[in-house]
Amino acid sequence: MIRVAIIGGGISGLTTAFYLEQERRRGAPVSYIVFEAEPRFGGVIRTERVEGCLVEAGPDSFLTSKPWARELCEDLRLTSQLMGSRDSARKTFIVVNGKLQPIPAGMQMMVPTRFASVVSSSLFSLNSKLAMMREYLWPPEPLAADDDESVAGFVSRHFTAEVVERLAEPLLAGVYGGDASTLSVRATLPQMVDSECRFRSLVRGALIARKPQKAKEPPPPLFTTMRDGMQRLVDAIVRQVPREMLRCSRPAERLAQNSSGWQVSSAGVSEEFDQVILALPAHACARLLATASGTERTVELLNQIGYSSALTVALAYKATALAALQGFGFLVPRNEARRTMACTFVHNKFENRTPEGMGLLRVFVGGTRDPEALALSDDQIIEIVRRELREITGIAAEPQFTRIYRWPHAMPQYEVGHLVRVARLEMHMQRIAGLQLSGNAYHGIGIPDCVRIGRSAADGVMRKIRAQQAPVG
Ligand SMILES: Cc1cc2nc3c(=O)[nH]c(=O)nc-3n(C[C@H](O)[C@H](O)[C@H](O)COP(=O)(O)OP(=O)(O)OC[C@H]3O[C@@H](n4cnc5c(N)ncnc54)[C@H](O)[C@@H]3O)c2cc1C
Repeated sequence: MIRVAIIGGGISGLTTAFYLEQERRRGAPVSYIVFEAEPRFGGVIRTERVEGCLVEAGPDSFLTSKPWARELCEDLRLTSQLMGSRDSARKTFIVVNGKLQPIPAGMQMMVPTRFASVVSSSLFSLNSKLAMMREYLWPPEPLAADDDESVAGFVSRHFTAEVVERLAEPLLAGVYGGDASTLSVRATLPQMVDSECRFRSLVRGALIARKPQKAKEPPPPLFTTMRDGMQRLVDAIVRQVPREMLRCSRPAERLAQNSSGWQVSSAGVSEEFDQVILALPAHACARLLATASGTERTVELLNQIGYSSALTVALAYKATALAALQGFGFLVPRNEARRTMACTFVHNKFENRTPEGMGLLRVFVGGTRDPEALALSDDQIIEIVRRELREITGIAAEPQFTRIYRWPHAMPQYEVGHLVRVARLEMHMQRIAGLQLSGNAYHGIGIPDCVRIGRSAADGVMRKIRAQQAPVG
């Protein structure tokens, strides 16, 4: 019997537990324990019901184009829960000089595919519009195969610094809470680097990649969520895993390697395991690994992965107060000097999030541009968010309720050189038998990527079991 410790009960660790459980039920000689520091499972995935509204404290959905979260839902028999975003209402605005300007139709991130909509847009200056056309005809030299650069460097090479400020930076801030001048283009926009490598022009690549629309078949929604909220995914896994395998309020406090494997200490109890999967933020991994001997270089590399913090603020209103708001929400560029990074118009983005007659906004604050935001009091945050909402959208009504969720050091920053750092880290990890890294710090931050990584950690365990079972000679 192989005993596995999964440390961290967010979606990455829980996915590993779920797929190991499937193997165990099929008779594989494996047992596992999930150690979670907090009193609840799910990590940053958390849904609350407040006055009939469905409030997402962390992620509200996942990208439909990445299949792994949907596949997990299929394996959990949760497909009836899957619900797409209301893309007929999809429109995102950017705040420019305090005013909402729509992102022109046909933009694929920061790459235009419909010149007519760019030409008539007020989001970009004439110089940026001309640069977009120029890029199609005279694209810049591609990034060398062994090189990396910042997202800001990459996008301004193809277009202009204004396209970085008004589009690339706010879009990436929404995912990483990060800074375009430090985030690695290879790690955060690999599809763009690939497009540059193949077509040189990003515009040309996007036009070629555009799939011809089949008659009468609507494109899949951009985002997928769970009808009862993202926490349903977590709850479904927790229900499928035997209770004795799940330990919440049990932080792993010490790791020690011995001749037969690993000793994990938590709440004064030490247990033996053959393998340990660290489904934790890199900083928590570093702290834990620092308690084991011979891990100094690994700890050093883990500590090189920076993090930003985020706050989400939910504000519910009478629907009449929000009637003027169209689309999915807005993003705020750094140079607008606001504390609001983004705002989602939740009741427009998804159906069934609010009862009849109510509307819900979700505001993001923090990120690398505003690390002090986490220390503000609840009253200060509400005051700031309401003032900025009033100035940007004109909404001055009193909210029916507000909720604030703080996520300290929750968003890993894939900075320039990230892939090389991770490759080095993994090389060091290979020398430490029986230890695997998982979680969102290395190869993808979105929920689908975390599911893929969590599943692959379970596959890694099974490969070792099969290798041990294989007849010798
Ligand atoms: C505010 C916010 C909004 C987001 N929105 C989206 C979105 O809309 N779509 C999307 O795809 N992604 C989104 N993301 C990203 C995505 O949700 C996360 O990357 C993903 O959920 C991380 O899962 P994880 O299991 O790797 O890590 P976590 O969820 O961070 O889980 C790690 C767990 O480890 C536990 N832990 C820490 N130390 C120890 C220890 N010593 N012992 C035991 N347990 C420990 C923690 O308590 C935590 O539960 C968002 C993230 C945030 C913060």
